[in-house]
Amino acid sequence: MWYWDNNATTPLDPAVLEAMLPYLREQYYNPSAAYAPAKAVRRALDTAREQVAALVGADASEIFFTSCATEATNTALAQFEHALTLATEHPATLRTLHGDVAPVLANGVADVPEWKELLPGHDGVSFAWANHETGVIQPVRSLAHAAAEVGARVHADIVQAAGKIPVNLHEVPVHFASLSAHKFHGPKGVGALYVRTGTEWKPYLTGGAQEDYRRAGTENVAGIVGMGKAAELALAAAEIYAHLADLRQRFLDALSAAGIETVINGGTAPRLPHVLNMRIPGMKAESLSLLLEPAGFLCSTGSACTSAEPEPSHVLRAMGLPDAQIRESLRLSLNRYTTAEEVDSAAALFIRVVQKVRSVQSSVTGPVMVYR
Ligand code: PLP
Repeated sequence: MWYWDNNATTPLDPAVLEAMLPYLREQYYNPSAAYAPAKAVRRALDTAREQVAALVGADASEIFFTSCATEATNTALAQFEHALTLATEHPATLRTLHGDVAPVLANGVADVPEWKELLPGHDGVSFAWANHETGVIQPVRSLAHAAAEVGARVHADIVQAAGKIPVNLHEVPVHFASLSAHKFHGPKGVGALYVRTGTEWKPYLTGGAQEDYRRAGTENVAGIVGMGKAAELALAAAEIYAHLADLRQRFLDALSAAGIETVINGGTAPRLPHVLNMRIPGMKAESLSLLLEPAGFLCSTGSACTSAEPEPSHVLRAMGLPDAQIRESLRLSLNRYTTAEEVDSAAALFIRVVQKVRSVQSSVTGPVMVYR
């Protein structure tokens, strides 16, 4: 099996599971309880906070845990009355934020002059450090500094960047940042919000005193411990991600050697090293994925008719791709365990599938649609 949909979620690292298990079994105490056994659970939460902070260049006191990145993002965006974001953002931002949407260039990078032009009158901004579909990395410093100039506070969605490329929140004027454990081999259902020291803000979930009154609700202890362990492992594996750009190129080279022309969406922009959003002109991605899936190759398509979002990708639309090209687009995302052998066998399968679709596709009938 080739699981190449790691931007959707990553497999749980076995060491993360090991770290979590005691907190699902014998260490079940409520961390808020006053008795001694609960103190050990509290200490585990503190350790996780330090591990997550270390991954993103923050202080432990600036991190608190949430149920997911969506909750963290909603919490940050609730601080703004009229905010500015980018057209390529994740729905967690686009469907939550009150305000305006700025365009991106054809390669997916923010149009910085336009961003600056639109900024006045906004009290907050929100942008993803790296895009979830294309892996395009935004000019974070330019966007954040421009916001600072008009007094707008900054929320950075670091969900896809954290654990993949260096993220140092103290080096950029970011006030809030959201992240999710399951994108870096941690468990699902746990995320975190970074709030820069000295930032004024109001909690989103109110109730008990958990997380120092920053996020009420009994903590998902095992999940948080898992997120901490996953952050520690991701930091230690930072170099592996840089090397994934070579594996991505190896895959493209194999396709090219087989006479398969590919176009990379966002190809001229700085991109996450493990993400490849590409299309093969004249070939429907859905047809490819319907043949790839039974062979054990899992990835996602730009027009994800089979996923929860029936509409063609708004990200690729914002980059100006016509719907026909969006329907040709596939998102392949590797992880830190991907090997050269895996890439070679995946490329061989991919080439076979493309050739099969080609063999039944004539210039008269146009792109072939494969039905299950
Ligand atoms: N932001 C980005 C860029 C994402 O890719 C995702 C998940 O796909 C989210 C936010 C939301 O994360 P979660 O589903 O953990 O809430």
